[in-house]
Parts: sequence; C-alpha cells; structure tokens
Amino acid sequence: MAYKTDIEIAREANKKPIQEIGKKLGISEKDLVPYGHDKAKISAEFIEQSKKNKSGKLILVTAINPTPAGEGKTTTTVGLGDGLNRIGKNAMICIREASLGPCFGMKGGAAGGGMAQVVPMEDMNLHFTGDFHAITSAHNLLSAMIDNHIYWGNELEIDQRRVTWKRVMDMNDRALRDIVTSLGGVPNGFPRQAGFDITVASEVMAILCLALDLQDLEKRLGDIIVAYRRDRTPVYCRDIKADGAMTVLLKDAMQPNLVQTLENNAAFVHGGPFANIAHGCNSVVATKTALKLTDYVVTEAGFGADLGAEKFMNIKCRKADLAPSVVVLVATVRAMKMNGGVAKADLGTENVAAVRDGCPNLGRHIENLKSFGVPVVVAINHFVTDTDAEVDAIKEFVAAQGSEAILSKHWEFGSEGSADLATRVAEIADADMANFAPIYPDDMRLMEKIETIAKRIYRADEVLADKKIRSQLKDWEEQGYGDLPVCMAKTQYSFSTDPNLRGAPTGHSLPIREVRLSAGAGFIVVVCGEIMTMPGLPRVPSSEAICLNADNQIDGLF
Ligand code: ADP
Ligand code: MG
Repeated sequence: MAYKTDIEIAREANKKPIQEIGKKLGISEKDLVPYGHDKAKISAEFIEQSKKNKSGKLILVTAINPTPAGEGKTTTTVGLGDGLNRIGKNAMICIREASLGPCFGMKGGAAGGGMAQVVPMEDMNLHFTGDFHAITSAHNLLSAMIDNHIYWGNELEIDQRRVTWKRVMDMNDRALRDIVTSLGGVPNGFPRQAGFDITVASEVMAILCLALDLQDLEKRLGDIIVAYRRDRTPVYCRDIKADGAMTVLLKDAMQPNLVQTLENNAAFVHGGPFANIAHGCNSVVATKTALKLTDYVVTEAGFGADLGAEKFMNIKCRKADLAPSVVVLVATVRAMKMNGGVAKADLGTENVAAVRDGCPNLGRHIENLKSFGVPVVVAINHFVTDTDAEVDAIKEFVAAQGSEAILSKHWEFGSEGSADLATRVAEIADADMANFAPIYPDDMRLMEKIETIAKRIYRADEVLADKKIRSQLKDWEEQGYGDLPVCMAKTQYSFSTDPNLRGAPTGHSLPIREVRLSAGAGFIVVVCGEIMTMPGLPRVPSSEAICLNADNQIDGLF
C-alpha cells in the first residue's frame, strides 16, 4: 500500500480558522493576534490573567537512544494529544519550532508525521511567525554592538582575543564556522577571528525558552557574558547596553504561537533550543500557559531520554517549577534493532532476536526515568513494516521489567490509532502517582552534579576532567554560579560518548572536553566529545528537492 507523504497529508487538512481553535481554549479574539488565517500569537495580558487558573497535568514524551532518522517523538506527541481529545479529554500539545538548517539539510520536518501532524506544516518548517528571525536579529545586534564598542575606543577594555559572543544564522553553513571579521582596513575596525553558530544554538534562544516573562527575559539577556578582559574579568551584555534593544526585538517572539493538529486540536509551537549545548525543549511560557488552559498538556524533549528528559527534568522543570505526571517513552522496533546491532540498511527485515538484543537500552531508560519519581509508559510507535513478533518481543521485555508497553498507530490512523495509549496515559496521570524531584540539588558542587548524571543516567564508572576544567568549575562556584544546573552536550546515539556504543553499555568513562558558562540562560554547558554548533549540509541536501509546483504549492518538504 502506498502512503501519502507528510506534506500531501498536511495539504489536505481541514483546518479551522485559528479564532475557533483559540475559542476552545477560552482565548477571545482580543487576546489572539492572528498571523494569517491559521496561526496566532497569544497576548501577554491573557497569559498573565490565565495564571490564576488551576494547572493541568504535564505529560512528557521522550525516547530511547534514537537511530539517525529520529524515532517519532514529535509524531507521538501529536498523536497522543489527539488521542486524549478523542477519548473526551481536554488536552493540548506543546512542541518546538523548526530550524531551517535541518529542513534544508537532512530530510526531516519538525511538525510530526503521517496522520499525526501540526498544520500549517509548510509555515511551521519555514519562516513561521518570524520568531527565529527575531532571535537571529537580537543575537546579531549584540554582536554588532560589541565590535562597534571596540571600534570606538574599547572603553570596557575587551580583550579582542577573548570575545566569546559569535554571530548566528538559521542555516547549515560550514563555511562560516571560523571566519575573520573586520578585514579591509581602518574604517572596518580591528580584524579578529570570529564565527557563526546556527540560530538554535544561540544563548538568546535558550534564554527565550527559559524566561518567565519580558522582565525576566531582559534580565537574563543582560547577564550574558560576551567577552573577557585581559585580567579575565567578564564583560556582560548589560555593559554593552544591548539588553534593552534586544528585548524590544524579541517582544513578539516571546509570545507562544497557536496552531492546530490535523484533527483541529490546539498546539503551542514555540521556541527551539538545541538539545546539546542547550536544554532542547519548547518555551517555559508556552508550557506554563498551556497548563492553565487545558487539563492535560503533552510536550516533548529532544534527543533520547538520557539527554532530553534529563534536561527537561533537571533544568526546565527545576527552573520553571514544573512537574510531569507521567512520562511516555517512545520506542520503535527499528531503533531496538539498531541498538541490537543491525545496520540501517537492514532495518526492513524481521529480526526478533535483534529487537530483544536492543531492549536493554529501553530497560535502562525506564529505570532512569523512574529515578525522577515519575511513572513511565512505553509507547511503541508503530511502523507499517513492524511485524507482530517484533512488537511482542518489546512488550514482553517491558512487562518483565514491571512496566507496560502500548502499541500506538497514530502515524497511520491518527487518534484512532492512539486511543489506547491515551486512555492509559490519562489513567496514570489522574492517579497522581508521580513524586517528581530533580536528581541533584542546587547546592551540590558542579563537579558532583556532572558525576551524578554520569553515574546515575549514563552509568559511567568515572568522569575524566583535567585540572583546567576542574579549576574552571571551582572559579565559577566562587563567582556565584555554583547553584546553576549543568547542561550536558554529548552524542544522542549512546548512553556513552561513543555514538557506536549502542544498547546499555557499562564500564565506560565520561571525558569532559570543555565547560562553558551560559550565564544568561542559567546553566553550565558540559561538552563531552565533538559538538557541532554550526552544522554543514549533506552531500545531497533536501533543499535540492524543494520547489514550487505548477499550483505554487511547496513540494519536496518531506
Ligand atoms: P523525532 O521527534 O523523534 O525527531 P519525528 O516525530 O519528527 O521524530 O519523526 C521523524 C520522521 O519519522 C518524520 O518524518 C516522521 O514522518 C517519521 N515517522 C515518525 N513515526 C513514524 C511511523 N510510525 N511510521 C513512519 N514514519 C514515521
Ligand atoms: Mg521532534
């Protein structure tokens, strides 16, 4: 049977006017700022007023260590949200916005897939409501003001070799990773080595996603460290006096974007920080507001649970005072097979033994998630090529662990396929079984926080860090940054730092390459292994296939 592509399905969606979707959430037209017919932002006044409402239950969707294709977290988030609505619950979803980088690079949108998508998917995957452009502009305004400050005499005595603030662009462009700026003589300033990151890696993005409101946004922007002096004292964004204008540029971008699923259920799509050097979840404002508008909010954390869920719990929930009622751990037969050692090209053939061999990866994620005090349900995101025997192998393994796995066919059938999952998830959420707590306290030493994650989540024996890194962490503690959480940047493909070490490895160590202070976002980034903050395009980028068809519709967008 031939299946329609995501964009073909999305194009046929029976969208409702966004005002109708807003109305279902109790948002009047006065508080809904439409961007066209099918997108809208929510006014700050409405968000403020809604704070007095009772909070709904938060449901986190996360996954096992993925295969390079992504295993359907967003698709399952959308499917589960629609499933909850189908069984009569009042639910909405909160997901991240898409970056142009992956959109034009490797095949893969950010709006879900099959019959479980948010629409308009073309807009969502491209310019959307302009939030990323605003973030890019705010970030680069600061960059321009730093170089301008140096040009006009450098009163702050910035050491030009120690400017840490780069420029950003929402594009995969390896040519801009390391560049020299200000070439061309006296009128162009002082040449220095600089570079670009992709917009989603900007600290401004992380800040926008963690800020509670515009005041908090401005304060955090001011706290960004942009450079150091020769005596190593930090120069802040506030010293450059860019925080006010950056906040102005970000004013609208701070407001959550409302769209709908294929089944006309509400979705907030807002913010999109990287899941390695940042925390990888949609904005706090969107999640907190959604909880005030519906009884259940389904949200997603990037990458596998070792990174995404860990940061969701230890960073986002800690900072925003959120607590999930239940975690849905997405597993696929394909990913189990890959964790069981099967090559990507061979995933199409039935291989029950490999599924079983890969299951320890799933088992470890279940154990880890439970250690946050939250009940876990495994959702088997069904691919049409999966065989019953392969699905049963996962179910048996999970049952033997004392948990449960539920097969969900939302990709193929929408909410009809996810009703079972939704029913069980709602039961667990309603039973108030969770007793959530982050796995380390604020006042633990930074090095101990890293060790806690390494040992309890990655199951590494030890953390390897040289003296330079240890003394850097100590310095930050002395400067008052010791209470910050740590944001781990490592490969998503393994519990370890070796992407090829699949399954549930033990006996490994966690080498730390570098530590960075994101003082505005409010975390210490711990870089373990190669982390790319400006990706490149693949040999055949998906942009080669994207075009307008004879009807001026967008083709090739997945
Ligand atoms: P993640 O959020 O984990 O990165 P997505 O939900 O974005 O993953 O899905 C990645 C890709 O896989 C999308 O193109 C989506 O259409 C596809 N996909 C997800 N689930 C299924 C499924 N059950 N069957 C077929 N394709 C799927
Ligand atoms: Mg996703």
